[in-house]
Amino acid sequence: MNRSRKYLRPKGLRYVLYRLWRWIFPTRAPVRTWMFLTFALFVGLAVVGAGLYTGLVLHGQLRSAMEQTLRTQAERLLTQLEQAPTPEEAVALARSYSRVTEVHLTLARGETVLWDSEADRPLEGENLRARLGMDVDTERPVRFFERLHPDGQRWLYVVLYRPASAWVLRLGQPEPVLFKLAQQMELTLLVGMLAALLLALLGSWIATQKVTGPLHAIRNSARNIIEGHFDEKIQVHTRAAEFQDLAHHLNKMSDSFREKIAELQRLTRLQTEFIGNISHEVRNPIFSIGGYLEALASPTLEPEVRKRYAEKALQNLQRLNNLFNDLIEIARLEYRADLIHPAVFNLQELLDEVVEMLRPKAEEKGLIIHAENSPLYVRADRERIRQVLTNLIDNAIAYTDEGYVRCRLRRRRDKVQVEVVDTGRGIPEEHLDRIFERFYRVDPDRSRRSGGTGLGLSIVKQILQAHGEAIHVESTVGRGTRFWFELPYAETDQPVSA
Ligand code: ADP
Repeated sequence: MNRSRKYLRPKGLRYVLYRLWRWIFPTRAPVRTWMFLTFALFVGLAVVGAGLYTGLVLHGQLRSAMEQTLRTQAERLLTQLEQAPTPEEAVALARSYSRVTEVHLTLARGETVLWDSEADRPLEGENLRARLGMDVDTERPVRFFERLHPDGQRWLYVVLYRPASAWVLRLGQPEPVLFKLAQQMELTLLVGMLAALLLALLGSWIATQKVTGPLHAIRNSARNIIEGHFDEKIQVHTRAAEFQDLAHHLNKMSDSFREKIAELQRLTRLQTEFIGNISHEVRNPIFSIGGYLEALASPTLEPEVRKRYAEKALQNLQRLNNLFNDLIEIARLEYRADLIHPAVFNLQELLDEVVEMLRPKAEEKGLIIHAENSPLYVRADRERIRQVLTNLIDNAIAYTDEGYVRCRLRRRRDKVQVEVVDTGRGIPEEHLDRIFERFYRVDPDRSRRSGGTGLGLSIVKQILQAHGEAIHVESTVGRGTRFWFELPYAETDQPVSA
């Protein structure tokens, strides 16, 4: 019901006015329109106001001043005429006054005209109405009126009536030159104002163009940036400082967006790669374990083969376990920045613990492992540094076939340098930059065979970064590798043995 009523609503005057209003002041319009409308409104109001003032107020004031002067003149003359001993003498006085001052003068007593300057002859008691077309108005003792004479001159008249003596005096004067000048001035003023209005509108239009030009350029560039053209630079050809600044800041903003988006894209790519790598790393050992378990189920298997398969399945399980441990470690480091709890501890003691734990593995491969150091105190997270040392020494053992692994601590001013050196196969130079990336391996098969996950060095890098430190490497293929990093040295009261 409501809907049909709405559609059938008659488009009355109110609706037309509303449309007009919306046309003049739309709800959405370019800045140019708004600025122009505002200028036009204010300038228009100022001009109309000034015009009204000069046209009505000033004009009215001038006219009432003129009327006042004429009335005073007439009042004085009528008083003199009243004092004349006889009407004839009054007429004589009026005549001579009229001659001297060149005014129009009519003298009457009651309805009877005694003398009229325009007739200038005995009027033999002519009726006032017949002579001048006017009656004596006892209610209005003072009256003004205007008359346009055939020569185009405008005259102003005052009619005075004195009830006590019944004298009537009509006095007329041409409009003063000053009044005419004022009228001409009003006209000039009006034309000037219209010219000013036009000039102001033209000026406002130019000013509006100056403001909206750069705004349009900025809007278009912003649109392009939204569409993904981040290389686009906002260019404004203006001397206005605000617009120059705005364009400069917007350009900086788009630069920073570009950098952030590139970084986000890089991170997303890394993440996708990471997830791909994880699924690959998980799937392989699971398939292997499945295969070996299936084979183990066969009753005809030789005991020696059975043992080998069981060992292989266990090896793969161990690989999976290592992978999960490393992934959990990475996730912890990534999502909990507060996971580092620095404390003062003896680094030499920790290094000895790690070396002792890994010594059997080194000896199994016939490697010598050196770690003879003096106690040195550092401020760091002991458990995280244990992980760093374990990963580095474990790698050194894994990638060295003969020779030794040496772990050395050295004090360097306010730092302690930790160094893990081996005499292994080394790392080709082109791989050195990438070995700290997740899942990056120089020799993937060898890494997997030794139970490596490809995550060890990236965990090392992450832990040291969380301590504000960096990991360094140098290597010579066929001769060996040296990893080193630093930790903040801590003063301690504990006795330091040589
Ligand atoms: P992985 O689990 O494969 O050892 P890491 O992140 O610990 O993963 O190491 C990445 C790669 O760097 C290894 O696969 C290996 O190729 C190389 N690498 C690490 N340490 C050494 C080392 N001491 N000697 C030679 N190569 C090494």
